[in-house]
Amino acid sequence: MNVYMSNKVLLSVDVEDWYHGPTVISPKNTLKSLENFLMDAVDVERAFRYVDVCLELFDKNKTKATFFWVAEYARRFDYLIKRVASHGHEIACHGLCHYSKLDNNKFNVYNRTEFYKRTLQAKNILEDLTGTSVIGYRAPNAYISGMMIDVLEELEFQYDSSVSLNSLYNKTDSNLNGVDTSPYYPAIGGLDKGYKNRKIIEFPWPYLEMGKFKIQCAGGPFLRFFGSSLIKAGINQSLKRGHTTFYFHPIDICKDEIPINFDIKRPFLWIIKGDVVKKRIIKLLDNFAPISTNFTTLINENY
Ligand SMILES: [Zn+2]
Repeated sequence: MNVYMSNKVLLSVDVEDWYHGPTVISPKNTLKSLENFLMDAVDVERAFRYVDVCLELFDKNKTKATFFWVAEYARRFDYLIKRVASHGHEIACHGLCHYSKLDNNKFNVYNRTEFYKRTLQAKNILEDLTGTSVIGYRAPNAYISGMMIDVLEELEFQYDSSVSLNSLYNKTDSNLNGVDTSPYYPAIGGLDKGYKNRKIIEFPWPYLEMGKFKIQCAGGPFLRFFGSSLIKAGINQSLKRGHTTFYFHPIDICKDEIPINFDIKRPFLWIIKGDVVKKRIIKLLDNFAPISTNFTTLINENY
């Protein structure tokens, strides 16, 4: 058996709806704050109908996943987060309202105190709803900074999974020196590779390397637009480097119409979704489920 066959795919689901995206709501635009938006939103339960579909898919493959929840969303639909937890899946944190934490210039939108306060509130909500410790974090829209990692460690999170090294974008405030797709201990105050001297681990996303070009293969929009073959190739390549991850959103398999007039900056974002994406997810699960696990299990086994 090859050494890399012991590496695992950490299966994850980011539980949010389409309107949590950065071009629809943001903390700086009061007209588009979540609170104001929800007053107009007709069907706020849309994505939730598809969480059950995720549970069915995972049960069929006898695999456990990590569900990263937007905390205010979990609070509005508490019966559903409880159902996910009762199926034995890990509950992790995807922010309080899914606001991006870095702006376009890579500066922190929230100062350290405010980020600490909001993240603690989110963690408390999720822990109160499920009665379990929440030790994992994924940054909304994958905007992550060194300061955020330091605060997460202070709040006793044991891992983050937001960093994506690829040739199309860098949503962090660091150069990502030394980072590839395998788990690592980030430096203090940054996301470059540090030393094994801290209590928080970063699980970066997979990529497919073709020559000097790296394409993100973690899932989400890349799965919707480019299909499962690309994702599978990227995960396979990343497994040779170490443990890796895969994620999607319940909204990716949603068959309902999304009111794109709210998201005029990205009218094509949700053009591919529903059954076609569900079939791609099933294909990937059939392929990787025997070596999939959730984040907490891996931490307990290896770190
Ligand atoms: Zn998200």
